[in-house]
Amino acid sequence: MNRSLFHRDLTVATLASGSGGNCTYIGDGHAGVLIDCGVSTKQILRRMDEVGLASAPIDAVLITHEHSDHVGAARVLCDKLHKRAGRSVPFFMTAGTRQGLRPACTPDAIEEITPGEPIRLRHLELDPFSVPHDTHDPVGWRVRVGDLWVGVVTDLGRPTALVAEKLRSLTVAVLEFNHDPDLLMEGPYPWALKQRIRSSHGHLSNDQACDLLRDGLSPALRHISLAHLSKENNRPEKALAAASKVLAELGALGQVKLQVALQDEPLAPIVVPVNAW
Ligand SMILES: [Zn+2]
Ligand SMILES: [Zn+2]
Repeated sequence: MNRSLFHRDLTVATLASGSGGNCTYIGDGHAGVLIDCGVSTKQILRRMDEVGLASAPIDAVLITHEHSDHVGAARVLCDKLHKRAGRSVPFFMTAGTRQGLRPACTPDAIEEITPGEPIRLRHLELDPFSVPHDTHDPVGWRVRVGDLWVGVVTDLGRPTALVAEKLRSLTVAVLEFNHDPDLLMEGPYPWALKQRIRSSHGHLSNDQACDLLRDGLSPALRHISLAHLSKENNRPEKALAAASKVLAELGALGQVKLQVALQDEPLAPIVVPVNAW
């Protein structure tokens, strides 16, 4: 077999992350998807260009839930991708998410999915799974490229056994480290919003993300993108320190590379060779 013909690199680029908008690209040069589209279409395409993914294929957009920091660009992006690809590009989401969309964020090309029922898209496998968040039927997504799984797990109020189980398969994890509980409680947010963020259907604190890692770390994991950090209620160094501490505790500091996903600029892509087809 001519390896060059079959050679693929898994590429994961966190293009934007935080309450101002979220978008991650996952692909292998032959097929690819965006997870969420919470910054403008212009920003998504500009940031892909900036990290060398200008011509990377986008075969679908996988939506996690209907909050505007995840779907804000859906309508415009749908039209743009249709023009770019010369065909309709599907936006996969649950029926609950679809019902929760505002008209201004509703794309034409919606395909409904069910949590727990993986779908095939070309040679990719897409696996939506339920997460606890205060929307209609939110999901996290796993994407399989060859023998590797990537997962995007943000916007969840607490670690669950299901999420830990999904984490165990991942080579690359985009994982929420939303807030530091002390900064949140001392910070400027109104009381009700603080309670919402802290609730079991809000967002993961640094400590809760670490609990998830304690439960879900496997030898497969190579990269974690610390994601959806709150500008007001977290600091990159606090999230990094918490993640490093738990990896050290688990003897995995040398195994796993950490990066902090940013709101205002894309991160250089994580690239991992794919072995099996
Ligand atoms: Zn969010
Ligand atoms: Zn949300």
